[in-house]
Amino acid sequence: MVSKRIQKALEGNSAIRAMFNEGREMAAKYGEENVFDFSLGNPATPAPKALNDAIRDLLDEADAKGAAGSLGIHGYMANAGYEEVRQAIAENLNERFGTKFTAHNLVMTVGAAGGLNIIFKTILDPDDEVIVFAPFFGEYRQYAANFDAKIVIVQPNLETFQPDLADLESKITARTKALIVNTPNNPTGVIYKPQTMEQIGAILEKKQAEFGTDIYLISDEPYRELVYDGNKEDFLTKYYRNTLVGYSFSKSLSLPGERIGYVVVPDEAADAEELIRGIEISNRTLGFVNAPSLIQKAVARCLAEKTDVAFYDENRSRLYEGLTKLGFTCIKPEGAFYLWVKSPVENEEEFVNEGKKFNLLMVKGSAFGCPGFVRLAYCVSHETVEHSLPAFAKLAAVYGL
Ligand code: PLP
Repeated sequence: MVSKRIQKALEGNSAIRAMFNEGREMAAKYGEENVFDFSLGNPATPAPKALNDAIRDLLDEADAKGAAGSLGIHGYMANAGYEEVRQAIAENLNERFGTKFTAHNLVMTVGAAGGLNIIFKTILDPDDEVIVFAPFFGEYRQYAANFDAKIVIVQPNLETFQPDLADLESKITARTKALIVNTPNNPTGVIYKPQTMEQIGAILEKKQAEFGTDIYLISDEPYRELVYDGNKEDFLTKYYRNTLVGYSFSKSLSLPGERIGYVVVPDEAADAEELIRGIEISNRTLGFVNAPSLIQKAVARCLAEKTDVAFYDENRSRLYEGLTKLGFTCIKPEGAFYLWVKSPVENEEEFVNEGKKFNLLMVKGSAFGCPGFVRLAYCVSHETVEHSLPAFAKLAAVYGL
């Protein structure tokens, strides 16, 4: 009895989620410590203490007020979220990135996923095209399908995993409404270079003029703060006028279950006023209504907090060096918490299945629109990384590496 749309979604059900469930089953069978589950991007470091303190303080403050007839922190609010929360985030961004936002430029969202969906609902008509750079976060397909839009895939340079800009230029059409950029990238860990972003901006400007259209660059940036080796946190609005930002606290404060993030619409974006109003309405009519109230206020008190980047950096070095030494070809991650590994055989699904024999769980590259590679999410304990290396050695031996 399910709809045709959902029947299709069920057939292509997320490879990552399926792998996650398989991991749970293997852990029950072989013991948690004997399964090396690199499948899911669930942060491995706890949320900062300040965040839990802020939640407690907020509840105590709300209880202390205790006004009957007023729901206070538990009540409905404007669909965009609390004004003081948006203003605090705007000021934090301005301080860090030299922008000039106010509360008016922000809408609080139900994570990055909620943010992308309300942007898409606001800008997409059926058959519109959204360009993505392979490899990409697989759910973009479903988000575009929610609004009957099409995903158009641009190939990467297979050495650097920077996008192929000639391919980008050739794929922009009069129906291109948006290009999604995700840097630091899931699944490669690559950061797009400032020159790459400048070139992307120039191509989009040129194509807008050619077709007489507006093309939005959507910066999907849940990993903005997760950068290594002296790489700087970047904010993409400076490269191109029509840039919209979708941010999430899921990874930066280890809060994926709380569902909190925001969208930024800069004043200089085309039709900014209409966009903001559209995004607010979409937040309501898609059923989110508003981002969760308590956690909005809590993150606003923790904007100076950072996740434990050093923790992930240690896993990154150990896994990258360990696997490279074993003969695997890996892209050195510059950010996020993923390692992108070339499959020793063309069909990476075969490689993934071989890995399972040694209790290694990896996600196939085709789930990210890029077969021939696999993704390892190293947001796991140091012990899991360390204890997985002998299993990877056995896997390497299977392929004579
Ligand atoms: N975009 C990318 C690139 C992601 O990796 C993720 C989650 O892993 C999301 C969006 C969704 O994030 P959220 O949990 O904030 O909805």
